[in-house]
Amino acid sequence: MTKAPLLACRDVVRTFAVRRGLFGRKRSLLAVDGVTLSVERGQVLALVGESGSGKTTLARMLLGLVPPSAGTILFDGEPLDAVDRRVLTRRVQPVFQDPYSSLNPRRTVARIVAFPLEIHGIGTADERRRRVADLLDMVGLPARVTHSHPHQLSGGQRQRVAIARALAINPDLLICDEPTSALDISVQAQILNLLQSLRADLGLTYVLISHDLAVVDHMADRVAVMYLGRIVEEGPAERVLRAPRHPYTRALLASELTPDPTLGLPDPGLSGEFPDPLDPPAGCRFHPRCPMASDVCRREPPAVRTDGDGRAECHFAA
Ligand code: SF4
Repeated sequence: MTKAPLLACRDVVRTFAVRRGLFGRKRSLLAVDGVTLSVERGQVLALVGESGSGKTTLARMLLGLVPPSAGTILFDGEPLDAVDRRVLTRRVQPVFQDPYSSLNPRRTVARIVAFPLEIHGIGTADERRRRVADLLDMVGLPARVTHSHPHQLSGGQRQRVAIARALAINPDLLICDEPTSALDISVQAQILNLLQSLRADLGLTYVLISHDLAVVDHMADRVAVMYLGRIVEEGPAERVLRAPRHPYTRALLASELTPDPTLGLPDPGLSGEFPDPLDPPAGCRFHPRCPMASDVCRREPPAVRTDGDGRAECHFAA
C-alpha cells in the first residue's frame, strides 16, 4: 500500500474581503486560486514567486492559521480542519523570516526553546533542561548562550534559536518562510546547511517559501511557482530551474540568477508591473507581462499541461 503524502492540497482557494479606501465597497480578493500540490515525507518543496503571488497565504493555510475558502488540505491523509489543533502544532512548526521579532525579547534562550515543551506539558523540569541543551547542540549553539537574551545574540544565532524552538517537540514538517532573507550573506549559507543536515538527521519535511532562487536551488527537491494565486509551474527542482517551461519561471530565473548560457533563455527577465490582485487580467493572468503572449492568451485562461513529473499552465508549454 502506498503511503499518503505528508501534505496534499486539492483545489485550494482563499479569498479575502477587502475595501479600498474608507468608503469603497467591499471586494473579493482571490489570494489563492485552485492550488493543487503534494509534499512527500522527507521532501523540500519550495514555493516561489513575487510578493503578492499568494505563497504566504498558502503557507498560513498549511499551518492551519487561515482556513481555505474552498478545497481540501490533507495532512498525513487527514483533512487539516479535522486534525486536533494541539496535534497540528506539534507536528507542523513555522520558522519565520525575522527571528528577532519571533523571539520573546524578555525570555532567555533556555526559556524560549523550552516554551513549546511547557505548553504541551512534555517532560519534567530536568528533562526539559536536558532537551534544551541537546537542541542547542543540535543547531550548533554553544552552551554559554543558554541564559542569554535574544538582543545579545547575532542574527544567525537568533535564527538557530528559532530553529531549536521549532524542533523542540519533534515536528514532522517545518514551514520555513524566507528563513535566511534577514541574514547576512555569509550567515545565510550556514543556516541553509544547518537546515539541510537537520532534514537528513531527523527525516524532516520542509515547505520553503523564498523569493531567492539561489536558496531554492540549494535546498529544494520540488519547486512550485506561484503567480497571482495560481501555481503556474510545478515539478522537480532540477527541471523547473534548469529547463523551465513557463514564461514566468523563465523570466524569474533570468531576473534573479546569474545568466547561464546553457539554459538558452531568450527572456530579458521580468518587466512590467505586478497586476492589481483585485483586478486580475482576463485570460492568462501573466499575459500583460509575457513576451510570448498572443490573442488566445488575452482571451482564454490556459489549461494545465502535464509532462512526466511536471506541469505548467501555459497555452504554449512544450
Ligand atoms: Fe504567456 Fe500565453 Fe503562456 Fe500566458 S498562456 S504564459 S501569456 S504564452
